[in-house]
This record gives sequence, C-alpha cells and structure tokens, in this order.
Amino acid sequence: MTETKHLVIVGGGFAGLNAAKCLSRERRLEITLVDRRNHHLFQPLLYQVAMAGLSPADIAAPIRSELSRQNNLKVVCGEVLGVKPQQKQLQTSFGPLNYDYLLLACGAMHSYFGNPQWEKHAPGLKTIEQATEIRAASCRLSRKPS
Ligand SMILES: Cc1cc2nc3c(=O)[nH]c(=O)nc-3n(C[C@H](O)[C@H](O)[C@H](O)COP(=O)(O)OP(=O)(O)OC[C@H]3O[C@@H](n4cnc5c(N)ncnc54)[C@H](O)[C@@H]3O)c2cc1C
Repeated sequence: MTETKHLVIVGGGFAGLNAAKCLSRERRLEITLVDRRNHHLFQPLLYQVAMAGLSPADIAAPIRSELSRQNNLKVVCGEVLGVKPQQKQLQTSFGPLNYDYLLLACGAMHSYFGNPQWEKHAPGLKTIEQATEIRAASCRLSRKPS
C-alpha cells in the first residue's frame, strides 16, 4: 500500500484553486488548502465593482463550495505567518501545520517602486475592500458642490 502524503496549498486564488482541482483524483494525496479569506475572488472584475457596475457578491465565491466535490481536500480559513522548510511546517493563525509538500500560491502585492507616498493618490485594487473604497470615494467626489 502506498503512503498518503499531505500537500498544503496556500492561497485559493486562480493558482491554488486550479492546482487543487488538477489533483482531485490523486488518491495518494491529502490536500489542505489554507486561505485567509473564505472566498475566491475573480480579480479581473474588480474594476466593475469599483465603478458600481457589479456588486461584490458577483465576483466572489466561497472557496469551500468551489471545491465541495473534492474528497481528498479540506479548506481551512486562516493566515499563514511563516514557513519552516527544515521542519516542513507552516506557522499559521490557527497553530502549526505540517506538510510533506508545499505549494505557495499566495499571489502578489502591488508595488510603488519604493515610493509608498504614491499610494494615497493611486490606491491598490486587489481586494473587494479596496474596490468598495474606490467606489465610495468617487461617490463622495460626485456629491461635492462645484
Ligand atoms: C484589477 C485586476 C484586473 C486583472 N485583470 C486581468 C485580466 O484581464 N486578465 C488576466 O489574465 N489577469 C488579470 N489580472 C491578474 C489576475 O487576476 C492575477 O494574475 C491572478 O488573480 C493571480 O492569481 P493567484 O492565484 O496567483 O493570486 P491571487 O488571486 O491573488 O490569490 C492569492 C490568494 O492567497 C491568499 N493569501 C495570500 N497570502 C496569504 C497568507 N499569508 N495566508 C493565507 N492566505 C493568503 C489570498 O487571500 C488569495 O486568496 C487582474 C488583476 C487585477 C488585480
């Protein structure tokens, strides 16, 4: 009998979700997908939320329901705080998590190329909170008396 290995995937974005789906038939793997958010976000439509063309619920779906048919996987909501590669262990907001294989699919942050002062003039657009903040700011501007 072959031994089951534990794969931890960090991130339920396009990369993490697709990796998990591709491995759905892999019986020798127990998969844990960790994300600090409980939802998968379709980032390319964040612009439409920011300009009030769509509501946040239109572009977000619970990660658990996206992967609900997958028997070799569990989804955990929590933040990964660090990696100890020697021990094959993650530090997370819910305690240590051991792995045999690790797949980091945590996405990327925007960059201001060493100019953090630019952020207040050109805020990032990577989360629903940022999209709704841009929407609220443009509403405030349009209500200003000229
Ligand atoms: C506004 C916008 C428009 C875009 N338009 C297009 C487009 O038209 N076409 C195109 O091809 N691409 C587009 N992209 C790019 C595309 O959306 C990204 O390349 C893609 O979402 C990246 O997927 P990912 O899985 O690597 O990361 P993400 O989707 O960012 O997912 C990373 C996941 O990891 C989680 N995570 C991160 N750190 C931690 C941690 N420490 N602990 C736990 N969880 C963590 C996050 O919560 C997130 O769910 C756009 C992006 C943006 C922002």
